[in-house]
Amino acid sequence: MSLRLYNTLSQQVEPFAPQSGRTVRMYTCGPTVYDFAHIGNFRTFTFVDILRRWLRLSGFDLDHVMNITDVDDKIIRNATAQRKTLTEYTAAYTQAFLEDCRKLRLEEPEHRVPATGHINDMVNAIERLAAGDHTYRSDGSVYFRIASFPGYGKLSHNDFSGNLAGARVDVDSYEKADARDFALWKAPKEGEPFWETPLGPGRPGWHIECSVMAIKYLGETLDIHAGGVDLIFPHHENEIAQSEALTGKPFSRFWLHSEFLLVEGQKMSKSLGNYYTLRDILETHGFQAEAVRYLLASVPYRKQLNFTFDGLKAAVTAIDRLRNFKLRLETDRFAEGTNERMSGRTVAACKAFQDGMNDDLNTAEALGAVFEYIRDANSAMDSGEFGAGNVRNALELLDLFDRVFDVLRPGSAGAAATEISADEVESLIAERTAAKKAKNFTLADQIRTQLVEKGIILEDTKAGVRWKRKSN
Ligand code: AMP
Ligand code: ZN
Repeated sequence: MSLRLYNTLSQQVEPFAPQSGRTVRMYTCGPTVYDFAHIGNFRTFTFVDILRRWLRLSGFDLDHVMNITDVDDKIIRNATAQRKTLTEYTAAYTQAFLEDCRKLRLEEPEHRVPATGHINDMVNAIERLAAGDHTYRSDGSVYFRIASFPGYGKLSHNDFSGNLAGARVDVDSYEKADARDFALWKAPKEGEPFWETPLGPGRPGWHIECSVMAIKYLGETLDIHAGGVDLIFPHHENEIAQSEALTGKPFSRFWLHSEFLLVEGQKMSKSLGNYYTLRDILETHGFQAEAVRYLLASVPYRKQLNFTFDGLKAAVTAIDRLRNFKLRLETDRFAEGTNERMSGRTVAACKAFQDGMNDDLNTAEALGAVFEYIRDANSAMDSGEFGAGNVRNALELLDLFDRVFDVLRPGSAGAAATEISADEVESLIAERTAAKKAKNFTLADQIRTQLVEKGIILEDTKAGVRWKRKSN
């Protein structure tokens, strides 16, 4: 089976391949740096990361642009209130975002581009839209006339033909009922920062930056454009209108949208106040970033993900299980030879993992394949049916899994940073032995993981537990 993706534009799952050659040209909407990003935002960015990794594992190269929205209504409101320039205000949140991305092991896109670095390109695009009669001016601002673009509504599958005429909207975000002519260029209000340009003083509306930067770096027709479902309308609908009015070509072949992360049934958002930043979860609640990454990646992107701390704890347990299995493969002694049944089982698990990912990135199915395999392999090991010759393929399966999920390596901010003394190791081993005797295998596994994170490898032998420090 090869890769199939759900396309919001066609409302179908379609086979995916780039339009030309092996390179996927992809644009994904980045953060608005007016505050720290919350883990709802990171759900979408983690989906993008999983998509990137799976596209590469499917044999494609990537040319991926992600923007940073560093000028918009909220940024201007906050920067003005704090008497800061836009750059002073946004620099800290941009840095924080990049740090959080690194902690979550989100790959760097090939181009990460700030809106304020492209003001001239945007002015130029607005002038060309004006020349094509797609705009009009009012009070120093320039609006896109949605009635001038017959395809308006094709992404959100709404028929706006009844309310296309005349009314305008000045804010960057608005609801479907407000399908109106939107601002491409906004005249400054009293005390607001602005750029002096051939369009007059002002600043760009939110939507134009993505059309302009996508076309500039990737060409007129993208292979994939992605973001959260809240961007379908108006942001992506407006991007299509601007871009296709400019080029006369389809703007993107595939449109992918990830569902919300919810808290108690509601979208996690700044405005509802029901949000956690990554910092809250790591620093205040003491979880590791890998657990957050695992949780965000484990629910298929088109399903809503209900965030709970129990869910996060389950992610910790799942990672422990995976790491313990890897350790067992690396340190246990297995009988000579290869068990044929297990060989077949490993090949089948690899295939089931790939099939799951190819099925519109069904991460739950892919993970299910790995955990079923671990269960079977562990019992085969217990009953002596797992041979030394089975180890390599089993490690390859884990490697395939980890090239997508990337949670096996303990985080550098984790316990490994400080070296554990031999006495501490001995006492943790004693605790683990006691836990095993008391049949508290969860605790025993946790202690083993804790030791692994400190770079200690355990080996259970008939004579007792032996240990050594990992040599890399
Ligand atoms: P923003 O910084 O508001 O521009 O949002 C950045 C990205 O996060 C966008 O792709 C949004 O669609 C996405 N997003 C915002 N809230 C959530 C949420 N609760 N769950 C998933 N994605 C979200
Ligand atoms: Zn965008």
